[in-house]
Amino acid sequence: MRWANAIDFTEAQSLAGHLMTAALLAIGYLSGMRPEEVLHLERGCSSQEEREDGTVRYRVTGRHFKGVTDEDGNTLPQGEIRPEPWTVIELVDRAVKVLEQLHDDRLLFPRSLTVRTLEPSPAEIRAEGLNPNRFIARIKSFIDWANTTATRLGRHHELIPADPHGPITVRRLRRTVAWFIYRRPGGHIALGLQYGHVGSSLAESYGGRTKADMLEILDFEKTLALADALAEASDRLSAGEAVSGPAADRYIAAAEEFTARYAGGFATKGQMKALRNNPRLQIFEDPQALLTCNLDPYKALCDPALAKDTRPSMRTPNWNRCNPACANISRTDTHMHRAREQLAQIDTDCTDCTDCTDCTDCTDPHLPHPIRRRLELCRASREKIIQAHEAAAGRTASKDSP
Ligand code: SF4
Repeated sequence: MRWANAIDFTEAQSLAGHLMTAALLAIGYLSGMRPEEVLHLERGCSSQEEREDGTVRYRVTGRHFKGVTDEDGNTLPQGEIRPEPWTVIELVDRAVKVLEQLHDDRLLFPRSLTVRTLEPSPAEIRAEGLNPNRFIARIKSFIDWANTTATRLGRHHELIPADPHGPITVRRLRRTVAWFIYRRPGGHIALGLQYGHVGSSLAESYGGRTKADMLEILDFEKTLALADALAEASDRLSAGEAVSGPAADRYIAAAEEFTARYAGGFATKGQMKALRNNPRLQIFEDPQALLTCNLDPYKALCDPALAKDTRPSMRTPNWNRCNPACANISRTDTHMHRAREQLAQIDTDCTDCTDCTDCTDCTDPHLPHPIRRRLELCRASREKIIQAHEAAAGRTASKDSP
């Protein structure tokens, strides 16, 4: 959608500022870099590598600062070029290229575009790049502009809500991306796919390093996501929910083991590591999925290479390629409730677009055949899931059953 028919000369500078802020957020969020590392990136830092298998790897070379000392142990404020480039996804490379077209400076985030009235702080003078705190107001201003634009264009679903935890800062991005990697935004296929790629690229960027700080953040978030899923499983079972599917026994056993070992207690670092690495406790939920993935990497049909190519704590389901024949699937009544909601939505969609009441028998000549076929398949697959679950739970399959 076109968001502006023309740009007034007087708007150019502020729009360039917003574009730079957007690029900063994209690079910081999707790369796992620390704020000061992002702010010291230089023109030409991103490169592509075409592999023999036809895939493309995007690499970003830049400075890192944490723990960089001279031979006497003194901290080097200018840091050093990171020995291993970061592996990033294509969106980061694109954001770098946008910045390279935005100005002619060496640094991607130059003072000329960011600090017009303020003197650089002593830390900035020592380290050359900008202080990340400079961007708090800019991010707020960017959000205000994005919301104003979304409202003007009637795109209310794109409004950025207020954050109950306070202002968005560059420092919060690493923890946030780790949270999303393990709690994928279900239903948003493109985003789910991107997070899968981001998780892989972060593992590659930090995997060989002794100070693997980003991996620690990822490990921490994976443990929290696992603990949440297991606690929820335990609650569902206690509430009398039925479980079906080839991995139903493993689901129940995992919930029982988690309750016996961890429930109600404060987990130490060692316990968190044990939980994270316990192969019997690897259950994953997606808020939109109609199943729980009880991940045994040797049985995962979505990624046959998962067991051998990925380190244990980084193994996650590939939801976008989830195969209904997988032996890792279990389902509860909660998933059936979700399936019925989706059935109702399909019926509503059909009614809205065809004016008829039964999609499966729809003969409306105005409904394109591929859409009609897709709706029929969606409906049939959800009905099959509900029937199989009801049969396993010893109930009569019914649209209205509890
Ligand atoms: S195919 Fe589905 S259930 Fe099986 S491991 Fe992959 S995501 Fe999990």
